[in-house]
Amino acid sequence: MPRPRIVIVGAGFAGYTAARRLTRIARGRAEIVLLNPTDYFLYLPLLPEVATGLLEPRRISVPLTLPGVRVLLGHAGAFDLEARTVEWADPEGRRGVIGYHRLVLALGSVNKLLPVPGVTEYAHGFRGIAEALYLRDHLTRQIELAAQSDDPLERQARCTFVVAGAGYTGTEVAAQGALFTAALAAGRSLSPRWLILDTSDRVLPTLDPRLSRTAAEVLRHRGVRVLTGTGVANAGSDAVRLSNGESVPTKTLVWCVGVRPEPLVAGLGLATRDGRLVVDEFLNVPGRPDVFACGDAAAVPDVMHPGALTGMTAQHAVRQGRLVAGNVAASYGQGRRRPYRHRDLGFVVDLGGWSAAADPFGVPLGGAAAKAVTRGYHLMSMPGNRVRVAADWMLDGMLSRQPVQLGLIRGSAVPLAAEPD
Ligand SMILES: Cc1cc2nc3c(=O)[nH]c(=O)nc-3n(C[C@H](O)[C@H](O)[C@H](O)COP(=O)(O)OP(=O)(O)OC[C@H]3O[C@@H](n4cnc5c(N)ncnc54)[C@H](O)[C@@H]3O)c2cc1C
Repeated sequence: MPRPRIVIVGAGFAGYTAARRLTRIARGRAEIVLLNPTDYFLYLPLLPEVATGLLEPRRISVPLTLPGVRVLLGHAGAFDLEARTVEWADPEGRRGVIGYHRLVLALGSVNKLLPVPGVTEYAHGFRGIAEALYLRDHLTRQIELAAQSDDPLERQARCTFVVAGAGYTGTEVAAQGALFTAALAAGRSLSPRWLILDTSDRVLPTLDPRLSRTAAEVLRHRGVRVLTGTGVANAGSDAVRLSNGESVPTKTLVWCVGVRPEPLVAGLGLATRDGRLVVDEFLNVPGRPDVFACGDAAAVPDVMHPGALTGMTAQHAVRQGRLVAGNVAASYGQGRRRPYRHRDLGFVVDLGGWSAAADPFGVPLGGAAAKAVTRGYHLMSMPGNRVRVAADWMLDGMLSRQPVQLGLIRGSAVPLAAEPD
């Protein structure tokens, strides 16, 4: 009898963890295929450190070299759930079809858009390496062009940076970005200004209010203007108009309003909730015993909060990836399948410098203690590259960041994708 083939689509937090765990369980008795457009797993929580010149991009890109896992470099395009096949295309456009006995969908999410005029044209998202590299160059270039301009209005616009969305991503970008541009502007008689806005009534609206207070204090201390209860009314090439009527001259709008599930999920012909693929507590698609889903793309019931779905976080994705591996094995009679349960271990938000906000096991921390917990947590959570990351952190403590923009990523290369009709 041929070995069963398990195809995992997406090598993010959920898919990478599932593949790694499955190889340990299967020990060669199953063929494990990991289909992903890149040859690396991206550790997204450290992306703000790439955008602000602290980490080089390869530090957070962990190669997909998992013993016992066959990596297919490509993008899944279509699924035939009756024939049990996945159509995919490699990075050079060549197409292939692969059959499966079990399918694990771990497709993740993409930037969320709101129907705000000008945003698709003038805002940039923050969801991948290209966007982080673009932002690093863009920030550096704005300071350099402001320094060489004699026009005070242009200088002011170039030195004003607007972040829409004060979730953990937007808050980290604004807090770390303010430090980065302050260092770039030093000795140039420029005063960079950052503004972060959110329609809710506090920064970090989904986290413990004590973390919000710590983060808001750090932001204010760095001169970042925090505008709650405020959104973007429209965006242009030289200014952003806010929902309170204010017009902010700027060349920078970083769009961090959140994410939505990978749109491919909607085309599967399966039930969805909030755009996420409906699964039961065993991460199994109802009526499809051979199809599983996990991570941001899956609507996993939150048994701790009946009626709710688990959040779109790396912590959930990793734990679900681990569980799905066990449940796939159980579908072959190895072990017992288990429902997804979780205990909140807390959250970490790196604010740059010696600041962070964290609540490990519910204990709220700020300052250097939170920073130590945050960095320790990231090092432990990364599946590879730990020494390289720690070395970059050490170097950053001793050397100044390099004020150079390589210009490899143009703004047009990192558009905010249009929302589907
Ligand atoms: C900037 C940023 C910072 C974050 N910080 C934190 C944090 O500090 N803590 C936290 O808990 N969470 C954080 N998150 C959220 C967290 O990263 C996500 O919840 C997590 O990545 C979800 O894991 P996933 O495996 O579902 O998706 P992902 O990690 O996004 O992985 C999805 C994978 O699927 C691949 N894929 C997509 N489409 C296809 C296709 N058609 N075919 C093949 N492969 C495909 C993608 O390329 C990707 O490799 C952050 C997110 C961002 C964007």
